[in-house]
Amino acid sequence: MNEQESRPSGSNSKKTNIKQGCLFIISAPSGGGKTTLSKALVDRFKDILYSVSYTTRPPRKGERNGVDYYFIPKKDFKKKIESGHWAEWAEVHGNYYGTPAVFLDKGLASGRDILLDIDVQGTLQILENYPDSVTIFIMPPSLETLKKRLEMRRTESRETIKRRLLTAEKEMAQKDLYRYVIVNDRLSVSIEKLIAIIERYRYPNTPEK
Ligand code: 5GP
Repeated sequence: MNEQESRPSGSNSKKTNIKQGCLFIISAPSGGGKTTLSKALVDRFKDILYSVSYTTRPPRKGERNGVDYYFIPKKDFKKKIESGHWAEWAEVHGNYYGTPAVFLDKGLASGRDILLDIDVQGTLQILENYPDSVTIFIMPPSLETLKKRLEMRRTESRETIKRRLLTAEKEMAQKDLYRYVIVNDRLSVSIEKLIAIIERYRYPNTPEK
């Protein structure tokens, strides 16, 4: 597959002759290490746009509005569902999460590659409109490891952890919907694997190491 074919084409790119950007989607169960991995990618590829999601869940300790998420009230989120504002949205663990369509379309049309960190439900919606997106699922080595990671984080109650583990099990069963699956056993190895996947699409003419 050459680079042109792997990218969504749109009328904007024809008008401006700018090659559309590529969408990379990373999903992982809560506690799967996805946030750390996404941050490593943003550090490595400074020009990739990281999509900061909107959510109705309250901020965790240390989370900043506009950096980790945009935190908005449920009623505002719902209004934006009605007005077709979201490229994708999902209800996860009783809270809403979404990605604005205008952010994706503007970024891609101007040739920027974009990194989305969203769940399986959101990935399926994005694939309907952006079928060439590069999808990557991060698997925890086991449910037991995931449970330990969630407990160590000390940000969630026992009940919430239980709920997140149930969701994780369901998400892991859907991993084959993704183009790539990385088992996140050792963080440094997973980061290398992720970088290699992204470089394959960004620099398709470079011989593989
Ligand atoms: P958390 O509350 O732990 O930050 O995230 C919970 C789940 O929501 C994670 O699986 C995360 O990937 C997902 N998520 C975060 N932002 C979005 C989004 O914009 N859309 C969708 N569909 N899921 C999201």
